[in-house]
Amino acid sequence: MEKLKIYLVVFISFLLVFPQTIFAQTNKTLSKSDQTADLLIVGGTVVTMNASREVIEDGAIAVKNGEIMAVGKSSELAKAYRAKQTIDAKGKVVIPGLINTHTHVPMSLYRGIADDLDLQEWLTKYIFPAEAKNVNEEFVRAGTRLGLAEFIRGGTTTFCDMYYFEDVIADETSKAGVRAVLGETLIDFPAPDNKTFDEALVYTEKFVKKWQGNSLIIPAVAPHAPYTVSEEHLLKTRALSDKLNAPLVIHLAEAETETAFIEQKHQGIRPIEYVEKIGFLSDKTIAAHVVQANEKELDILKMRGVGIAHNPQSNMKLAAGVAPVPLMLKKDLRVGLGTDGAASNNDLSLWEEMDTAAKLHKVFSKDPKVVSAEQAFMMGTIGGARALHLENLIGSLEVGKRADIVIAGFESLNQTPSYNVYSTLVYATKAEDVQTVIINGKTVMRDKRLLTLDENVIKKDANLYRQKIINSLSGN
Ligand SMILES: [Zn+2]
Repeated sequence: MEKLKIYLVVFISFLLVFPQTIFAQTNKTLSKSDQTADLLIVGGTVVTMNASREVIEDGAIAVKNGEIMAVGKSSELAKAYRAKQTIDAKGKVVIPGLINTHTHVPMSLYRGIADDLDLQEWLTKYIFPAEAKNVNEEFVRAGTRLGLAEFIRGGTTTFCDMYYFEDVIADETSKAGVRAVLGETLIDFPAPDNKTFDEALVYTEKFVKKWQGNSLIIPAVAPHAPYTVSEEHLLKTRALSDKLNAPLVIHLAEAETETAFIEQKHQGIRPIEYVEKIGFLSDKTIAAHVVQANEKELDILKMRGVGIAHNPQSNMKLAAGVAPVPLMLKKDLRVGLGTDGAASNNDLSLWEEMDTAAKLHKVFSKDPKVVSAEQAFMMGTIGGARALHLENLIGSLEVGKRADIVIAGFESLNQTPSYNVYSTLVYATKAEDVQTVIINGKTVMRDKRLLTLDENVIKKDANLYRQKIINSLSGN
């Protein structure tokens, strides 16, 4: 009895002094079997795009509150988590959501309006007149919804846009549950939404302040290009980007005509040297195209931490030239892929951009070893995230990142057989193979069914606009 008393006293004293030992142990045991997740994806081939490029066969991902909580083997995660919803991804591939680093989403209504023309004729005879006569808030809403539906169907979960009425684009995009960097365009001639540069600057500041802090929308300042915005105005946009801590999106070094124009206007210096010289570039800049760039200019972009949107199909279609992507990759620049607007592509599929990027640089450099399938897939995912300065948030399937996840079929005819996962993804997989899309933890397409947009209404609206646009161009 006496002995028992002593034991009890010792035990109670131990608990008083080290209560955490016993309770911590209990908690640990609980956490192993009883962690809850909103969503568990099991059984698929998980292509993480983490630093070691881990690919997990029979892999799983746990998601809670829009964030990735765990990535690992299905057997482990299925034991550790109790999930509200489980998706069986057996026979499928689970990848980070694709990132389109440059587009003009409402221009999907101009898909195919005029093809096979040189840039100046295409712009001045078709795009500018069609924009002047048709672009208003309702047009932008309809075009944005059309583009968003195509993005989701093709597994694009984030896009970087430049257009007018960007506030309306933000509204439609957030309603559809898609992530985006949205840049209101500032240009030195009257635009559909703002008639002067100063008005556009006021609009942009208001727009950025309104959307900052939104879980999906990152509002940005987007001066159109060095040849359409004066030096003074470029610097005003840079100052606004600094003041608001907002991304600064621009078309840069796209074509020979731009280089010739800048050289002539600014004592023989080229576009990238020019924007560097005036102090425009920053680590918030996202530059689209960067075709006209030599090694010295790429070093400037690297030094400034500028993100680059490479648009292989648009550059090919408008015969703008070939960006020095193998050198960008060698120098580890922040380079991602973009479709540009649908009028110069003519679709919004990142799968095609990855495929084209890998092939274009081989034929151009006469070296099949440049831009491998894995590098192309990198540019479509984590590279795109780096180009948008969002690599801490998205671009790979890693614990702590937002849950932007795409599940694609991996057993279609065009994917069979598969010897290498990156090869199958880049050279053989199509937008149609995408089945389920999750953005910020929320499912926006399940088994090919769009959950946030009405495809039939979108197509009907787009066809109505087609007739309006035709009439406007023929003077009716
Ligand atoms: Zn563009």
